Amino acid sequence: PHPDPGTGAAVKAADRAHVFHSWSAQELIDPLAVAGAEGSYFWDYDGRRYLDFTSGLVFTNIGYQHPKVVAAIQEQAGRMTTFAPAFAIEARSEAARLIAERTPGDLDKIFFTNAGADAVEHAVRMARLHTGRPKILSAYRSYHGGTQQAVNITGDPRRWASDSGSAGVVRFWAPFLYRSRFYAETEEQECARALEHLETTIAFEGPDTIAAIILETIPGTAGIMVPPPGYLAGVREICDRHGIVFVLDEVMAGFGRTGTWFAADLFGVVPDLMTFAKGVNSGYVPLGGVAISERIAATFARRPYPGGLTYSGHPLACAAAVATINVMAEEGVVENAAGLGARVIGPGLRDLAARHPSVGEVRGVGMFWALDLVRNRETREPLVPYNASGEATAPMAAFAAAAKENGLWPFVNMNRTHVVPPCTLTEEEAKEGLAALDAALTVADGYTE
Ligand code: PLP
Repeated sequence: PHPDPGTGAAVKAADRAHVFHSWSAQELIDPLAVAGAEGSYFWDYDGRRYLDFTSGLVFTNIGYQHPKVVAAIQEQAGRMTTFAPAFAIEARSEAARLIAERTPGDLDKIFFTNAGADAVEHAVRMARLHTGRPKILSAYRSYHGGTQQAVNITGDPRRWASDSGSAGVVRFWAPFLYRSRFYAETEEQECARALEHLETTIAFEGPDTIAAIILETIPGTAGIMVPPPGYLAGVREICDRHGIVFVLDEVMAGFGRTGTWFAADLFGVVPDLMTFAKGVNSGYVPLGGVAISERIAATFARRPYPGGLTYSGHPLACAAAVATINVMAEEGVVENAAGLGARVIGPGLRDLAARHPSVGEVRGVGMFWALDLVRNRETREPLVPYNASGEATAPMAAFAAAAKENGLWPFVNMNRTHVVPPCTLTEEEAKEGLAALDAALTVADGYTE
């Protein structure tokens, strides 16, 4: 326990008095006061320790408090804490070089933002200016950020309150066999029909009115739906045929999460623009960005890009990115995510699914997994309804409480739990987490019919 247990109560009291939290009814939340964190764990002021299967909000890809990254931030703070964006700064130049070295194809120019949502804002602006066209096509079951344009591109209920700004955004269905919109029974059917649906949507919207198609390479918060083979290549081909900019959002899927540097690497697809944030520096200092292809960069070679940020490429954030990327390379973090996912997490989750009737489907790759929880495996009725609130969420709340009782902090969204631990997770930690999930799923099983 913390030497002064009263501190936790004081931290919480000040939070409740003055902190306004994201996406919340302010009087209905009860945030845990966190005293510290290291590696894959964090703990409260009473000495309760949790294995973090959420990586924060899926961003601590190298775990908490990596000593080399902490030291790099301290070193940069001592040397040059901040500087304006128009200058050439060592940490910024090096971060851009390391990122460009890893992004697929010719995505070699890096525009730095403060986080993921503003990366999406700028990617979309670049696409509109590059094509001179107004519309953006995005998928249902997606999340692209909380700012006005990004949330309007988003295909989940978080958009609804801000829908007045949806002009110019058209949404379509991406493939998701388990809950197919296309009456498909195989991945091949799902892929072909989803591509046909996208093609038809484009024909009826008018190809010449569409600036960009934006997709999460593997949709994250919406349910970790790994696209079937050929889908992203198919979208690439459609974009090429119609002169549409292809944007992949790798804010959550990027930087090792899928067991490759970028999820796009799994599919051999090169977008025209790629957004990133989160894992770029494990969220130690806020940072995001857009990786830009040669063709789109050329649009702004002799014509000013009308956009910018005071903190674009902030030295502290960039120094953290340099250290994080170097740590990931030196310590084989991406390889660990791939190996542990394939050897331990994937098989472990499938074993849980075989024993727990509440698990409808297991899907994922690397350190990026979802369990789709259901009331009934035959009908696939979700354990809680889509966008449920209040009492209707009780089964998921009971599942989460049971996980926490067993020392595991779970990621819960609607009827799903996501297994998204740090990419530095050890085999022992993976097994500890799977055992806690086993106990919590027994509670979820109690709500099946
Ligand atoms: N895009 C994706 C795919 C995300 O998962 C998120 C955040 O979860 C965002 C964009 C928005 O990023 P941020 O919250 O850093 O603005």
